[in-house]
Parts: sequence; structure tokens; C-alpha cells
Amino acid sequence: MRVLLELSKILQAAARRRAVLAPLLSLLFTSPVFAAQQPAEAYDTVVIVDFPSPSSSGFWPVLKSELERSETPKLLTASALWITRDEFQKGMESKHGYEILLHGDCRMAASGASRNPPRGPLGWVLMVNGQIQPFVHVDCDRVRQMLHRELRDKTIAERRRILARAVSRIVVHEMTHIVTQSPLHGASGLEKARVSSSDLLAYKTD
Ligand SMILES: [Zn+2]
Repeated sequence: MRVLLELSKILQAAARRRAVLAPLLSLLFTSPVFAAQQPAEAYDTVVIVDFPSPSSSGFWPVLKSELERSETPKLLTASALWITRDEFQKGMESKHGYEILLHGDCRMAASGASRNPPRGPLGWVLMVNGQIQPFVHVDCDRVRQMLHRELRDKTIAERRRILARAVSRIVVHEMTHIVTQSPLHGASGLEKARVSSSDLLAYKTD
């Protein structure tokens, strides 16, 4: 749960992604022929979720449901469309665009996870030239490591639900940094610098 300030390879990659995302979101404005053939769907906010591999399809409906039920829609203050990178279509318009980039193994096909405490942040955002960028990064491997007790001996459906709830809470934390443009942390709740497994899994977060 960090705001990374240093210039690094990952930051440069994020800047490249940003350069790609902006033209994608505004593509239709520059394509009147396409607009005439197929009216664009306009959304106030589009959140694109980027999975590390296409085999995460079973996880997506569960994650989407948890994201929609989380505090993130309230932060965005307007109705948001949650889609995967594959579902994103040319011609979609939105005033605001965010991207959630998942790293590691989010499939939950295997029940085992390392018992070692995770090394590195569960989630992070990047600050470039004083601006917190609209990209949330979450590391599924580290989340699974942190929750190995809760995930043990569960069915695949239960493991997906647990991981989805934790990821959605990490997204709330990181999205708060983006929306408020503040790297600061709170003393309690999901805005702490270090959250516990019960913070990530409790049914009520308020
Ligand atoms: Zn943080």
C-alpha cells in the first residue's frame, strides 16, 4: 500500500500505458466515420481491469461483484463501468478513466500459497511529477501469501471470493490516493499504511 515516488522501470512502463490509454479513451472523437456507423456509448467513468493472463476468467465475475459492492463507486461519485481489458472496445467514451493492473497469479486454481509473509506492498500507485497516476497495481501473489490461513482448505469458489474481497479493499485504499491526490494514510480502517487480513476480509468496513 504505497505511493512510489522513485523513477524506475515500472514507472516508465506506467507512463507508456498512460500514453496508450489516453488515445484509446478518446479514439472516437477523432473518428467521425466510425461514430456515424456505430453510436458510441458514453460513460462518466470507465475502470479497466487488466489481468496478468487470460486464464483468470473465472475470477472476473467474482471480482467485479466485490468491486461494485466496495467503497470505490462512492469515491468515484458517478456510475462507473467496470470492464476487463478484453471487454474494452474502441469507441467507448468516458470523462474519467482508471486502470487496475493485477500482478501475479490471481486464478486461485491451486490452494497452496507460501506461508512466508509477503515481501513488498500488496498494492501501490505511482506518483509522476507530483501527480498520482490513475493506475492501481495489486499483487495477487502477495495477497495470497498474506491470506494463506484464510485460504487454506477452502473450495475454489470460496478462495476466489476471499481473494476478490481483499483485492477490492486494496483497490479502495489505492483509489483513495488517486482521487484525493494525497499519499497520506489514516490511523484506522482501510486507509492505514499497513492493513491486516481482517481489514481486507471483514464484511463491514465502515
Ligand atoms: Zn497507501
